[in-house]
Amino acid sequence: MPSEKQSFSAPKGTSDLLPPDSLKWGALVRLAMETFARAGYQPIETPIFEATEVFERGVGETSEVVGKQMYTFDDRGGRSLTLRPEGTAPVMRAVLEHLVIRGALAAPPVKLAYAGPMFRHEQPQKGRMRQFSQVGIEAIGSEAPLVDAEVIETGAALLDALGAETTLLLNSIGHPGPDCRGEFQRVLGEFLKEHESSLAEIDRERTISNPMRTFDSKERATIEVMKDAPLITDHLCDECRTHFATVRSLLDDLSVAYELDPRLVRGLDYYTRTAFEFKAPSLGAQDTVMAGGRYDGLAESLGGPRLPGIGFASGVDRLLLIPNALEAAPSYDAYVIAAGEDLASEALKLATSLRRSGYSVLLDLQGRSMKGQMKDAVRSGARLGIIVGGDELAAGEVTLRDLGTSTQERVPLSELESRLSR
Ligand code: ATP
Ligand code: MG
Repeated sequence: MPSEKQSFSAPKGTSDLLPPDSLKWGALVRLAMETFARAGYQPIETPIFEATEVFERGVGETSEVVGKQMYTFDDRGGRSLTLRPEGTAPVMRAVLEHLVIRGALAAPPVKLAYAGPMFRHEQPQKGRMRQFSQVGIEAIGSEAPLVDAEVIETGAALLDALGAETTLLLNSIGHPGPDCRGEFQRVLGEFLKEHESSLAEIDRERTISNPMRTFDSKERATIEVMKDAPLITDHLCDECRTHFATVRSLLDDLSVAYELDPRLVRGLDYYTRTAFEFKAPSLGAQDTVMAGGRYDGLAESLGGPRLPGIGFASGVDRLLLIPNALEAAPSYDAYVIAAGEDLASEALKLATSLRRSGYSVLLDLQGRSMKGQMKDAVRSGARLGIIVGGDELAAGEVTLRDLGTSTQERVPLSELESRLSR
């Protein structure tokens, strides 16, 4: 035996999800998928890993996620695979693989929703994990501002249903044409060159590889410099400007409140136009609970046709850090109590038949005494106790005990289910 001290810890940056948190987590994911379904977003499941190039081409090699955070490995066949760090590129890959071929995009947008684990190798801290969960939606195939408004409203609806207090930040980052973001990047590049010496060291390199990402810096020195930087919203082309104005007026019509933030970016070329983030101020440093935007260039960068799209992703773990009213306690209709060891199998039979009829039912599996079972029944939070006794059974009856008031009465087995439904 190795002499190493035994350790049962989960790997760094991961955690086990235990009851009652796991119940809240399940309730949140259900709430999200229901909210998305009401607006027509149907579930899609893509693999947990993809060919590495899906992310290199889909998320972009200059991004922090691809450059520094991916879990990439060669499988036994020598293929480079990556645990998915995000959901949008895989969904687009799946749409290109299936829907385009079959012509399902004849009636765009294709509207999809997902929930599942994502993997990023980053420095773990509160609200920042190496394995974390996201829920999100994607609307693919349309450039219409109505789609932007629907996607943002659907995100807001989920946060509302959770009772989360959030602020919506909104921007447009234009499109990569020379009359739009192209010109802006030239102006921004000049500004950054002028202020290079005042930027944080680690940001100097990215000002060259992807100048707009400088707005995303978390370095104090850089943030200070960027306060005086030129803004994309002053350089939008007419079409992007009109698109953005329409999105804003649609949100106004829906009474979805937002703050314009001209420094909000998604710093990659195929992200276009609408960019948004929901922040929950109560969370402190890691306060972005939902982030999204348009990606009209993504399909092409994956090697597909031009296929515009917009979506968002929300971090489930961060959402759960916001105080919320999600149900954390399981609820049981009844607890079956065996009045004697020889009746344990009768108790199991009765519990099973009630479960088959759709009731949530517990029972003792450890041969506890009557008193022990009674205590366990009360502790479980079940509404009713069903006491199975020999005499009663012979008469086709059981004793029904209200575990709240401790009153009890005999009822025929034939009436049991109607009594449980009350
Ligand atoms: P950040 O700037 O906080 O790193 P990001 O831009 O990397 O965020 P996105 O890729 O837009 O985040 O992901 C969308 C959402 O997923 C985030 O707003 C957050 O709620 C959640 N999220 C992202 N990374 C993590 C992580 N490592 N742990 C937990 N949640 C995360
Ligand atoms: Mg990140």
